[in-house]
Amino acid sequence: MTPSKIIYRAMNGADPVYTGDTICKFCGMPAERNAKRYIKPTFTDIHFLGPGDGVCTACVFALDDRRGQENTMPSCRKMSAIYTLHGYHKFDALSAFELMMDPQKAGVQDGEPFLFFLNYSKKKHLFYKARVSFSTRSFWVQTDNIGFMFSPDEWKDVANMVQELYSYSKEEAKKKNPMTYFTKAEILSLMPSLHRIEKFGANRFFAIKESLMMYKSHPAYEAIVYGIRPKDDNDDRTKNGRQIDTRIDGNIQCGTQRAQQNGLFD
Ligand SMILES: [Zn+2]
Repeated sequence: MTPSKIIYRAMNGADPVYTGDTICKFCGMPAERNAKRYIKPTFTDIHFLGPGDGVCTACVFALDDRRGQENTMPSCRKMSAIYTLHGYHKFDALSAFELMMDPQKAGVQDGEPFLFFLNYSKKKHLFYKARVSFSTRSFWVQTDNIGFMFSPDEWKDVANMVQELYSYSKEEAKKKNPMTYFTKAEILSLMPSLHRIEKFGANRFFAIKESLMMYKSHPAYEAIVYGIRPKDDNDDRTKNGRQIDTRIDGNIQCGTQRAQQNGLFD
C-alpha cells in the first residue's frame, strides 16, 4: 500500500490502475514513461525519488494541481488532511491538534492504512515523503518540512502544558479579542517577555518551561503548538494535572491567534 494509492482511493473511491513498462519514480509501481512531464528541473526533493522514468496513475493524481482550480476536488498540496481507504478529511489549523491527539475523530479505524498530512505552507507535495500508518496510537505525521512518528499518549502531558500556556484569563475572556498568556511564537521558543511571565505566574511558567525544554526541538512540539486552540482559563491554574477539554465544539478564535498562525507558519 503506497501513500499515493491511499490518496487515489480516498478521493476517487476506487483503486488506481497501474499500466506501463517502466516504474514510478515516486512509489515504484508500474508506470508509463512520462517522468519528465511531471518532474521539472526546479524539483528540489530529488533525493526522495527512486529509479525508473515514469510516474504512475496514482502519483499523477496526487500531483495534480488543476483540480483545486476547478473546485471539484481539492489539490492535495493545498490542504492538511487525513486519508483513509474510505475517504479523506480535510482540516484546518483549528482542528489539527484534536485530530492529532485522536485521528479516529476523522474516521480512521485501527488496523486500516491511513495518512496524516499537516501541511503548514499549503504549497508542498507531501505524499512521496510520507509513510503509511496502521495504528492511531502510533502513526506517521508528515509536515511540509519533516515527518515523524507520533504517539498521542506520549505527548498528552506536553500538550496539556502547551494548552495551559495558550489559554487566557477570566478577565481577558470578557474582551472581544482575548489575548492568550503567551503567543505561539513564545511557546515555540519558550523565551517570552518578562511582563507576560509575571502575568501568568513566574513559578508555574518556569516549572512548565523546565518540563518542556527537552521536547521543544522535536517536530511534534511544533505540530502541537501549530494546532492548539486558545482556551478560556476558567480553572485554577495552581492545580497540577487539570483536565483539558479537547472537544471539537466551536470556533474559538481571536485576532492574535490568526495573526500568529499566519505569520508563523506561512
Ligand atoms: Zn507512483
